[in-house]
Amino acid sequence: MNKTIIVSNRLPLQIKLNEDKLEIKPSVGGLATGMKSVHAEGDSLWIGWSGLTEEELNEPLRNQVKNAVKKENCASVSLTRKDVDNFYFGFSNKTLWPLFHYFLEYTSFEKENWESYKKVNQKFADVVIENIEDGDTVWVHDYQLLLLPGLIKKEKPNTSIGFFLHIPFPSFEIFRTFPWREEILTGMLGSDLLGFHTYDYERHFLSSVKRILRLDVHFNEISFHDRVIKVDSFPMGIDYKKFHEAAKKHISQPPKERSETQKRLDDHIQASPNTKLVLSIDRLDYTKGIPNRIKAFEYFLDKYPEYKEKVRLIMLSVPSRSNVPQYQLLKKETDELVGRINGKFATVSWTPIWYFYRSLAFETLIDLYTAASVAFITPVRDGMNLVAKEYVATRVNKDGVLILSEMAGAAKEMSEALLINPNNFEQIADTLKKALEMPQEEQERRISILQKRLERYSVERWAQEFMKSLNSTKKLTEVYV
Ligand code: UDP
Repeated sequence: MNKTIIVSNRLPLQIKLNEDKLEIKPSVGGLATGMKSVHAEGDSLWIGWSGLTEEELNEPLRNQVKNAVKKENCASVSLTRKDVDNFYFGFSNKTLWPLFHYFLEYTSFEKENWESYKKVNQKFADVVIENIEDGDTVWVHDYQLLLLPGLIKKEKPNTSIGFFLHIPFPSFEIFRTFPWREEILTGMLGSDLLGFHTYDYERHFLSSVKRILRLDVHFNEISFHDRVIKVDSFPMGIDYKKFHEAAKKHISQPPKERSETQKRLDDHIQASPNTKLVLSIDRLDYTKGIPNRIKAFEYFLDKYPEYKEKVRLIMLSVPSRSNVPQYQLLKKETDELVGRINGKFATVSWTPIWYFYRSLAFETLIDLYTAASVAFITPVRDGMNLVAKEYVATRVNKDGVLILSEMAGAAKEMSEALLINPNNFEQIADTLKKALEMPQEEQERRISILQKRLERYSVERWAQEFMKSLNSTKKLTEVYV
């Protein structure tokens, strides 16, 4: 039977070493959920790094990892500490991530990291090739593995390969600054189908292919050697049911069964029934526009002082890549800004910003989503932004307002949200006021349309559409052969 091989930087498993004993559990992220229907038992294999380096695993433990992941239909790629430093923290997170998010001033172009990126992509290719059989289909994910499609195609030219990029693809003027631009594009073109979140990213990619590689592009197809490569957009959705049902269950819970966080939120709402909660949730990443958001909130309180004590920003910042210097600087800046603004406006009974620097359990996220009257999501650049979609999915009473940056991929499908430019404080302040004052019927109208769309284009549907398109490119190739 032909199988589908899924490849991503990390396996969809949380593997921990606890005093020489392995603890393994499935991870619950969006991608893992979306791929569930593809990664069905028996006919698929997921290849990725386990999260533990070669140095952390002695021989018996290495075998244990191998056997344990095999039981989950997975195979692991073995990486050294140095690989992780140079390929992952180095090239992926200090070169590709900032460059593709238009942060040219944060982008480092280090030859040593590039060499490591090539070497590690080859390690992934070796494991794929070791496991591949004729007729198998491969789906490669994300910016850590841009060279992988080319490396697989070279060894297995008849394998049908799909690639999906989970971050933006930047405009040609940004991409052209990249020293290894030809190699990266050629690597990606090992695929038969290339998927992006939005039509804009797709067009940026096609424009780089045309101008850098000088290839023929007809609509969304590229002629490359003797192959035709299809490029398309597939906006990723969420597990709508999971969020919607959790929120439904949550609001029907009797008071004494409610979580600690929820009880506190309930107390707060009861004590100050006229204070509305505005929520933001993101990883502490410079692409998420966190300092802008805080400064815009300050601007709002200065411009509309009648909202003092009537609104509170709950800001959850999830620690991320904290060994990369820019992330440490951002943490410092965020801490200082929150401190300054709370110091400036706080009263004995009110603090304008509640700031949490940690990750929270799923149930607590639901507590926050359901308690907030407004979601305030202001990235300066974001491939998609699933938090925006999750907030909408949890609004079971069809109330609530989503304020969303037009720089997030999600904005392309969510025109019923209040869209803002994250650099325009005047507009953000006025939009926040509009959101806080929006009549119930208008909230309902906007949320209902958004919910219908999100329910239809769930993450499962996203995976199915991509696989359907990949399989049709396969059939086309067979006809041409
Ligand atoms: N999230 C989480 N734990 C938290 C806060 C958020 O797992 O404490 C999840 C959130 O539910 C969402 C994801 O992290 O599914 C963030 O995805 P998004 O696309 O918004 O941003 P990314 O972090 O991928 O850039």
